[in-house]
Amino acid sequence: MVLEIKKISKNFGGIQALTDVSFSIEQGEVLGLIGPNGAGKTTMFNMITAMFPPSSGEIEFTGQSLAGLKPHEITKQGICRTFQNIRLFSELTVRENVMVGNHCRLTTGVLQSVFRTKYQKQEEENVLKSSDEILEIVGLSEYSQTIAKNLAYGQQRRLEIARALASRPKLLLLDEPAAGMNEKETNDLFDLIKKIQALNITILLIEHDMPLVMRICSRIVVLNFGKKIAEGTPSSIQNNKEVIEAYLGVE
Ligand code: ATP
Repeated sequence: MVLEIKKISKNFGGIQALTDVSFSIEQGEVLGLIGPNGAGKTTMFNMITAMFPPSSGEIEFTGQSLAGLKPHEITKQGICRTFQNIRLFSELTVRENVMVGNHCRLTTGVLQSVFRTKYQKQEEENVLKSSDEILEIVGLSEYSQTIAKNLAYGQQRRLEIARALASRPKLLLLDEPAAGMNEKETNDLFDLIKKIQALNITILLIEHDMPLVMRICSRIVVLNFGKKIAEGTPSSIQNNKEVIEAYLGVE
């Protein structure tokens, strides 16, 4: 098991965002996390990445509890996420955005360091090489020197994924990556998720685009009002009466 969510609950004041939610993710799978607006999906990402502590319950990553870790320590453990709203460094180049994901402060241009040791130069070369490899994977190599804000919307979303990949995650959390994408961009995203999966990176996917979810996920967990109401294969979820009533029926 890569990730085990054990009876996680979270309340914000009077709001019970999650109640006793448990599920696990196996190595190499793409697990979908779906449900209506406000069901608690993003809160679950915030629990896994230690943005907020859970009110109760525990999360284990590759057999180790994540309790008490800070967000940057979670990243170091091998968990990285994207956000629902695009959060790029819009004035930096595409390549620099990926380099930031590499936690590198030694690039040329805006982040240039004056005193560069031999070690730092070597380190910089490694980061450049790995950033360029990641841009290749996400299909943005030709935009390496483009300022991020000048990319098309779908490309900006792919750059977010590239930046997350730069921290070399074992588990990647994608928060509505297809939001606002047209059909071609969504198809390209499908191909990219498959590519990432082939790199042996496990994926937890929050997404409202049901055709994409049904096509790409091996299993799906459904939340409604902070509770897990179903878990299973795409076809079992599609035919689940409670899921249809709570979510799929109103899509
Ligand atoms: P969507 O599909 O709209 O993104 P979601 O399933 O991701 O929804 P969450 O964003 O996790 O849902 O929200 C679950 C509930 O918790 C909502 O009622 C929300 O208002 C509440 N909530 C989330 N974060 C906070 C917070 N930081 N403070 C107070 N309430 C919060």
